[in-house]
Amino acid sequence: MAVKVLSDENENEVSSDCEGCSEENSKLQKPATDMSYKHVIVYKLVFTFLALHILAVYGIYVSITKAHLYTTLWAAAVALASSQGILLGAHRGYTHRAFKMTLPIEIIFIIFQTMSGQNHIYWWARDHRLHHKCCDTDADPYNASRGFFFSHIGWLLSRKHPMVAEKGKSIDMSDLEANKLVMFQRRYFIPMFLLICIFIPSVVPVHFWNESLWNSVLISFVLRYVMVLNMTWCVNSIAHMYGTREFDKRISARQSFFSNVVSLGEGWHNYHHSFPWDHAYPEFGRFGGLSTQFLYLLHRLGMVYDLKRASQKVVQGHSRKYGDGTLDPGFATVRKPSITDSTQFS
Ligand SMILES: [Zn+2]
Ligand SMILES: [Zn+2]
Repeated sequence: MAVKVLSDENENEVSSDCEGCSEENSKLQKPATDMSYKHVIVYKLVFTFLALHILAVYGIYVSITKAHLYTTLWAAAVALASSQGILLGAHRGYTHRAFKMTLPIEIIFIIFQTMSGQNHIYWWARDHRLHHKCCDTDADPYNASRGFFFSHIGWLLSRKHPMVAEKGKSIDMSDLEANKLVMFQRRYFIPMFLLICIFIPSVVPVHFWNESLWNSVLISFVLRYVMVLNMTWCVNSIAHMYGTREFDKRISARQSFFSNVVSLGEGWHNYHHSFPWDHAYPEFGRFGGLSTQFLYLLHRLGMVYDLKRASQKVVQGHSRKYGDGTLDPGFATVRKPSITDSTQFS
């Protein structure tokens, strides 16, 4: 099981494999953002998300004052698992195919991603591939050109821009359509969501340490769900607004320390948009971000393989050509992750 370092020679493999905000794709970024367009607000969703956020704040109060400590710890564990279902499963694994997965880890990722309640993987991956392909345009589902609120949550409270539907048809989803597990989750998402995202997380504290059902629902479902949602949304909002653009100044994605902390290592977003098929981001030091460390653990256990990595030459060349000039000269050494077969990195 190896780390696959992709260099200039196999750049074609890279571009056909995953779509990024490359020069070619920038042709698709027309028209960019029509600020005169008014999104149609879906009030049912506005009230649902508002209620969830109010209940989540109350959930913080209950977890501090009334609930059993185990309930809060359980909710944190569910949050961690569901965040990995999104970050490693839906994002790096299924959307960008940055590594290959064995059947057991696919099943685990699908369960964890369902636990996150962020719709099914097929929907998630199509929107995210479109975000990369048509970044900062009206065809980008969470277009950051419309400001913080829209890219954070507003895109979920309104009808999608017609360009999203139009350009969405051009996204190649054949790999996921051929994946029986992904299509099973898509077909049975509602019952799976009710069972895995709401019922099981809520019933465990009631059954095992006699937590009240109300406290458990508030903390293990509502608070945990809202926190992981916001953590994910920060990558679409903050990581597209604040920070440097060391690798590509043509796109809004930034190297965001804050987003990186709250999203467990997903905030080096300018790098990610430049090399979306890379299994890890240029996380600093030998501790390469929590999600990447999980990935390396899975790699050691033989559950994931063929991790893709951009070669140093490609990264530095791209940064010299398109970056904003802020790339730390020591970048090449700090980005080398601590993995047993690190000799295979260029
Ligand atoms: Zn992005
Ligand atoms: Zn991505």
